[in-house]
Amino acid sequence: MDHFELRDGSLHAEHVPLAAIADVAGTPTYVYSTATIERHARVFRDALDGVESGPEGPLIAFAVKANPNKAVLATLARAGLGADVVSGGELARARAAGVPANKIVFSGVGKTAEEMAQALHEGIFQFNLESEPEAEMLSQVAVALGRVAPVAFRVNPDVNAGTHAKISTGGSEDKFGVPISRVMAAYARAATLPGLKVQGVAVHIGSQLTDLAPSRAAFTRIGALIGELRAAGHDITTADLGGGLGVPYDSAKPLPPSPAVYGAMVREVTAGWNVRLLFEPGRVIVGNAGVLLTRVVRVKQGETQPFVIVDAAMNDLLRPSLYDAWHEIRAVTPSGERFTATIVGPICESGDTFAKRREMDEVKAGDLVVFLTAGAYGATMASTYNSRGLTPEVMVSGHDWAIVRARQTIESLISADSLPEWLEKETVA
Ligand code: PLP
Repeated sequence: MDHFELRDGSLHAEHVPLAAIADVAGTPTYVYSTATIERHARVFRDALDGVESGPEGPLIAFAVKANPNKAVLATLARAGLGADVVSGGELARARAAGVPANKIVFSGVGKTAEEMAQALHEGIFQFNLESEPEAEMLSQVAVALGRVAPVAFRVNPDVNAGTHAKISTGGSEDKFGVPISRVMAAYARAATLPGLKVQGVAVHIGSQLTDLAPSRAAFTRIGALIGELRAAGHDITTADLGGGLGVPYDSAKPLPPSPAVYGAMVREVTAGWNVRLLFEPGRVIVGNAGVLLTRVVRVKQGETQPFVIVDAAMNDLLRPSLYDAWHEIRAVTPSGERFTATIVGPICESGDTFAKRREMDEVKAGDLVVFLTAGAYGATMASTYNSRGLTPEVMVSGHDWAIVRARQTIESLISADSLPEWLEKETVA
């Protein structure tokens, strides 16, 4: 459920008309709903009610990659969530937004020594190690700093997550985690390394999961592994079950499992594990909490169909061209008429297409349109391709709204470049 609704014939974010936001912030712009973010955080937490997770309860570490805007992170920090980060930049953002270090886990296959040192200085809750050499490096960095790094290995359980290949992460051909066949040896070695405190196991098999069977299979393997690790003498006190729960994008498709159904599965599979459970949800918390607001530049009649050319493009919302992702498209003030059109951006790539031959609200030049469910992996994946400044982001809360990231100006883009000395001196003939 989200808080983007038609009121008096015009789409609102909570109590704010999207048209009023477009008037001030311009288009394209991302718009996030605080009430929706807070609701999803609450629903996810409630879904985990009754899971066995020790005295502190589960740690829900929001996957910052899904939406790293400081206002979003601060909203979630106030709701009690931690953060799952995959870079020093995300770690800095999470801290700047007020996420306590002891609620932060650090995932990712390519952590550098500098990033490890940064996380050790911060005193994060856990490093999720993705390879044996990473454990060796972290040991050296921790010893050099006189710190102890709390670690888990992310296990690659070799399950097919049944999602898009580009967001599957738990198969043997994927780059993520330590193959389950080598994991006992990895723990045995890590236990001998100075500066490491082996405390947990971690798994994350993919994103936009619409079937719980692969997660259940992966978690079952993790449960068995915890027993084997304890039998081998390792003191396993945490199990990180990752993120991945899907959200509805296309109303014609079956709904993905709800957080409640996911929570029931987790409760059942993890009973008796005797660990603190960690979760890294991203999309399910912020996906439906954001829309990309755009304006129709013109409608162009092609040979066989109309093209709706909007002022947003693949650099603003990459998911359709990267993953063939579906976003529902609506007119902000629908006339009630419908037509079938292909919706494209202004970028010079055929891939700059949001939807092909889509039946949608009929729109004309100047109309406002939204792409729904754009709160996750939207603004965060934006680029400046075609010298388009990064899109602004707006946060709504009830009747209030604020620009929480300003539009990047072309001046700031150009001023980030510099000329080498030999070009500075030369004059163009
Ligand atoms: N944790 C890790 C390690 C990830 O790579 C991801 C994203 O793929 C997530 C959590 C969040 O996934 P989602 O946004 O699907 O919940």
